Amino acid sequence: MKKKYCSNPICNNEIEGMGNNPQPLLDLKVTDSVCDTCNEEFVIPARLGEPVSEFIRLMILGFQKN
Ligand SMILES: [Zn+2]
Repeated sequence: MKKKYCSNPICNNEIEGMGNNPQPLLDLKVTDSVCDTCNEEFVIPARLGEPVSEFIRLMILGFQKN
């Protein structure tokens, strides 16, 4: 089974199992998923509209992988 890594550009954790939907933090692609840590730290707060998410979003945009 192919290893998957977190789609968060500032994280390189290996994903266990199915991973988590990264929306709305990242534009979702079929192959994208984030690790449990990023899901809890970034994605869930972003869904709740917490102000910190905008800062993290900018930070992530500044660290685009490709
Ligand atoms: Zn991660």
